[in-house]
Amino acid sequence: MRKAYLDYAATTPCDPEVLEAMKPYFFEKFGNASSIYSLGQEAKKAIEDSREKLAAFLGARPDEIVFTSGGTESDNFAIKGITYALKQKGDHIVTSAIEHHAVSEPAKFLEKQGFKVTYVGVDSQGLVSPDDIKRAITDKTILISVMHANNEIGTIQPIAEIGRIAKEKGVCFHTDAVQTVGHIPVNVDELNVDLLSLSAHKFYGPKGAGALYIRKGTRIESFLHGGDQERDRRASTYNTPGIVGLGKAIELCSKTMPEEAKFQTALRDRLIKALVEKIPEVRLNGDPLKRLPNNINISIRYIEGESMLLSLDMAGIACSTGSACTSTSLEPSHVLLAIGLPHEIAHGSLRITFGRWTKEEDAEYLLESLPKIVSKLRAMSPLYDKNRL
Ligand SMILES: *Cc1c(COP(=O)(O)O)cnc(C)c1O
Repeated sequence: MRKAYLDYAATTPCDPEVLEAMKPYFFEKFGNASSIYSLGQEAKKAIEDSREKLAAFLGARPDEIVFTSGGTESDNFAIKGITYALKQKGDHIVTSAIEHHAVSEPAKFLEKQGFKVTYVGVDSQGLVSPDDIKRAITDKTILISVMHANNEIGTIQPIAEIGRIAKEKGVCFHTDAVQTVGHIPVNVDELNVDLLSLSAHKFYGPKGAGALYIRKGTRIESFLHGGDQERDRRASTYNTPGIVGLGKAIELCSKTMPEEAKFQTALRDRLIKALVEKIPEVRLNGDPLKRLPNNINISIRYIEGESMLLSLDMAGIACSTGSACTSTSLEPSHVLLAIGLPHEIAHGSLRITFGRWTKEEDAEYLLESLPKIVSKLRAMSPLYDKNRL
């Protein structure tokens, strides 16, 4: 059967070069990087090498990077770490209504502990307004967290502008850049951020490896208490293979990113146009221009997202839907509701995301399969028939 993986925003395969770079650190070079003998120091050196590569990509200093277990940990570290460190100063956090759960759940957790959170809404394209952020800031605000690009609808936020406001007001600013690092340029100074989360498995590195950028001088509570790794900010034995993989992955991305982004943007725009032409009553979600190069998110009326995914899977195509993203809930995605979609339209949404091994043919195969699936599902839908009469 033909196959097309079109869900790179969920996770990416590990690049074979990344895997090769990691391999020695499972066996010959397995030493604990905190050990002083050469086997340990060899691992330590590899970790510092990765730290330098990542810092170079971000325009940061190596000592501003803390390695973590991934995007979720980095987000939790940033949100809780800053809030706990600054709780004498204030008790208010500003964030957006479309954050990943790795940001919104820690925010809700802190609300239960008595902190106050303002969830700033977005416009119909999914854009956060810097003015709205500015208006939400009070003299009790200790943290602002707004994602760089949204994982569902691909909208890229005006982070540099929000960062300027945060700086002006003297408020710490975090961004979840899990969807952008490795895909578009990300520079911590240009973005005016104090903290930035990233995750290796979203840019062809291994799962379970990530990092948090923490600007020098930022006061933050340590996340894991234990050993003195990462200068007392994050205890636990170093995940050497994971960190080496992350470093190799970012090095590869620095080289391939411009070309990949160009190819994906062109393919994205062609596919959007073709889908809208071929399938009646389809709309694009998210900003058409301020958008991740690899992201398409459409709503298809009178279709239920999950049945569409199952039919696509039977055709060998892997995509994602905002309909029951959390799979246990029937609520449509909070992101699609935040951009103002009614429930029934949000339920019929499809996210198609490209990556390093996506070919023209994959998009063509989707374009061949999806209209047939949609007609079939619509033919079975009582809603559709009613509206046809
Ligand atoms: C994937 C993702 C995360 C979570 O990262 P993990 O490494 O899987 O924990 C957080 N934020 C965004 C925007 C993501 O896309």
